[in-house]
Amino acid sequence: MNLHTANTIHTPDTATTTATTGSATLTGPVTPTDTTSTDTTHRPLPQRIPIHHPGDPSYEDARCLWNTAVDLEPAAVAEPSTPLQVSEIVTAARRQGLRVAPVSTGHNAGPLTQHDLSDTILVKLSGLTDVHIDPSTATARVQGGALWGDVVEAAGQHGLACLHGSSPDVGVGGYLLGGGIFLYARRLGMATNSVTAMEVVLADGSLVRVDRTRHCSLFWALRGGGGNFGIVTAFEFSLYPLETVYAGMMVWDIEEADRVVRAWARWAPSAPDEITTSMRILHLPDAPEVPAPVRGRPVVCLDGAVLGPEAAARDAVAPLRALRPEVDTFASVPPASLSRLHMDPEGPTPVVGDSALLGRLPDSAVDAFLAQVGPGTDHSLLTAELRQLGGALSRRHPDGGAMSRMHGAFMLFGAAIADTPENRARGHADATALTRALKPWSTGGHYLNFAESPVDVECSFPERDWLTLTRVKTVYDPDDVFVANHPVPPVPA
Ligand SMILES: Cc1cc2nc3c(=O)[nH]c(=O)nc-3n(C[C@H](O)[C@H](O)[C@H](O)COP(=O)(O)OP(=O)(O)OC[C@H]3O[C@@H](n4cnc5c(N)ncnc54)[C@H](O)[C@@H]3O)c2cc1C
Repeated sequence: MNLHTANTIHTPDTATTTATTGSATLTGPVTPTDTTSTDTTHRPLPQRIPIHHPGDPSYEDARCLWNTAVDLEPAAVAEPSTPLQVSEIVTAARRQGLRVAPVSTGHNAGPLTQHDLSDTILVKLSGLTDVHIDPSTATARVQGGALWGDVVEAAGQHGLACLHGSSPDVGVGGYLLGGGIFLYARRLGMATNSVTAMEVVLADGSLVRVDRTRHCSLFWALRGGGGNFGIVTAFEFSLYPLETVYAGMMVWDIEEADRVVRAWARWAPSAPDEITTSMRILHLPDAPEVPAPVRGRPVVCLDGAVLGPEAAARDAVAPLRALRPEVDTFASVPPASLSRLHMDPEGPTPVVGDSALLGRLPDSAVDAFLAQVGPGTDHSLLTAELRQLGGALSRRHPDGGAMSRMHGAFMLFGAAIADTPENRARGHADATALTRALKPWSTGGHYLNFAESPVDVECSFPERDWLTLTRVKTVYDPDDVFVANHPVPPVPA
């Protein structure tokens, strides 16, 4: 399918946009009126768009998202399948005085519970999932509700890799709008830095193309500022030529946790940028779909990837191998296999979790981590994870957006299955106990993609960038039509 909808995309007079990229300053008038709008104001909402209202038999299913522990009660659920339908929904919602909450999959729907959605249409983008790879330019163009698994597969067929997340059914949308980190991150940086253009339905229903020269302040804000400014109907981003990557997992018995986690925490800050790893205490169920080495018992599990020649990759992994794992699958593998390396749950899953960014992880912090989830502890967490940051993640991208780098040396994340109210309460308590225990080493900020509950969004950005985000919001969505999981408010009039 040809995703190019040039007849409905309008580009602005770039002379009216003077905001800079990268340095986060908004120096001049940037208004949505610098577009030639697709005027849908007087167009009735076409019957063909599935819309589910409370009381409809279809409403209960329609309001269910990937995280089935999240219970949202929107005024309606709309399921568009074209960018024009997205535009029509936004226009109709505004006409009726309603707000609009876009979601791709609902992997990070938890924080949406902070909003009263009785005046809000939940716009599910699961009907916009086309993926197109252009091998000649090593770029991808995907629709706003596409899943990473589909992009990984399609790119892999051309010897190309993308900066996807740890699960194939995470949506490209929320992931890229919030930053995006996984196993290439310390070498290639935040995934959102690879975005070259987006097509966005704005609060007035117009569909615009944004990139480094058109609506550049909006382009800056969307790359890290989330779904606060419009509904992205298409993303375009760079891919990376990569036939193989040296990647895999290592497993140790939980009794080895002290020795292994401590050694990893000492090694991680000075490891070469080419290697990115994640260290977890896993306690996965005794279920056939769980790989045997980690099934039904608590273990220490590291996974990672190294970019570069295999000999250098082996050298990079050597200090980890020296920790004598009982399982070591590191080898040269096709990039597409990284999609499931982390063994994340696929399909609708009830999850509760909490996260924090850590500035450092000295021995005392490892002690605090293991006191919560180490050998002999009693907790409900399926995973207690420490992701290695630093490298390219710590450097501001010269051409990046609102989140072009990550402040912190490690990301901490704990999650539990929340399939009953009791498990939900216990999981929440255990996840927050973990982040509380490591609070002395926290940066105070959040990586919003892993913030499963409402958090202080402002403290996740440098003051100047937050100010710019609120100004861009004020320009593009002054009436606060778009309801995002992590809200950026307009500046009060
Ligand atoms: C199992 C699992 C694995 C994960 N792995 C990683 C990982 O490896 N690295 C990482 O960085 N993060 C990871 N995450 C976090 C993930 O990046 C966030 O949950 C992200 O928000 C998911 O995007 P989504 O579109 O699927 O989710 P959604 O919940 O659908 O979207 C989150 C928010 O993004 C906005 N949004 C989404 N799509 C659009 C759109 N097209 N236009 C406008 N706004 C939009 C909306 O505001 C929405 O509320 C993981 C999460 C889970 C649950």
